[in-house]
Amino acid sequence: MCPVCRARFRGTRECSRCGADLTVLMILIANAWRLRQASRQALLEDDPARARALASEAQRICRTPGGGRLEALACWLAGCGSAGSRSVG
Ligand SMILES: [Zn+2]
Repeated sequence: MCPVCRARFRGTRECSRCGADLTVLMILIANAWRLRQASRQALLEDDPARARALASEAQRICRTPGGGRLEALACWLAGCGSAGSRSVG
C-alpha cells in the first residue's frame, strides 16, 4: 500500500495514483520477505529461537497476516508462552 495516498501497491517503483517513490517500500518488503524465508529455514533446521527472532524482525519491518502466523508458530515452538499477545515497539 502506498504510504502517501494508500493506493494499492502494484509492485512498481512509483505509485500509480500519486506518483510517490516506492523504492524504499519495495526494499523493505523484500527485506521482510527474505527474513521470513530465513525464519522458515531456521524452523526446518530445528532452531525455533532464531526463527522467532527473524519472524519478529520481518513483522517489525512489514506486518502481514502470514508473517504473524509464522511468528506465532515460531514463538510457540520456542516455548515463549502466549504467542502474539505481547506487543513490541
Ligand atoms: Zn500514492
